[in-house]
Amino acid sequence: PRIRELFERAVLRPSQGQRRVATSGSATMLDRVSIFKGDITKVEVDAIVNAANRRLLGGGGVDGAIHRAAGPELLEECRTLNGCATGDAKITKGYDLPAGHVIHAVGPVYSSSKVDIVSGQLASCYSTSLKLAAQRSLKTIAFPSISTGIYGYPIDDATHIALSETTKFLQSEAGRGLERVVFVVFSAEDETVYHDLLPLYFPLP
Ligand code: ADP
Repeated sequence: PRIRELFERAVLRPSQGQRRVATSGSATMLDRVSIFKGDITKVEVDAIVNAANRRLLGGGGVDGAIHRAAGPELLEECRTLNGCATGDAKITKGYDLPAGHVIHAVGPVYSSSKVDIVSGQLASCYSTSLKLAAQRSLKTIAFPSISTGIYGYPIDDATHIALSETTKFLQSEAGRGLERVVFVVFSAEDETVYHDLLPLYFPLP
């Protein structure tokens, strides 16, 4: 029940600029995104995204938290995947998590001298994860802020990429079935960044 409650909050919590309720049943783009501050392992969605590394065998940060909460069967399935390239993503079941699936996306390690490359790889993490979810007919997906922890990507730049890829995908034919994308932030600073930038990509109609 607590998890259910959390999910309801995640899903129903209005993001900044989302004060107006959609009229006459026509869902706006803003009805399809939320910001949720908390632990992604507690969020009950069809898929949570893991900020994984290329080996896909667990690690620190959100990766470690997801493996701990999902239980050892997640690692067993991950062993069969033969790793994953940077910028790509692979999907598994969610095991003991409230989320049905885990999409393991491998973000780039930030390098200011390779911004062209790393920004493309980070964008690809989001677009590939969204595509995987849509291909499986999943309706709700939650992202952590990929690469902005141990991998050092500046939160502002990374958030622009996350929001830009998400709005592009939700407006595309492939994204039609996706009902909700939740951005899970772990700190008050990150929450502020998402709140400030969200209206740039999801304006009120
Ligand atoms: P990366 O190696 O891709 O940088 P990290 O796990 O170090 O991945 O960090 C990615 C983001 O996930 C950071 O913003 C970090 O604060 C956040 N994070 C860490 N644990 C959790 C968690 N349990 N739920 C949601 N976000 C988390």
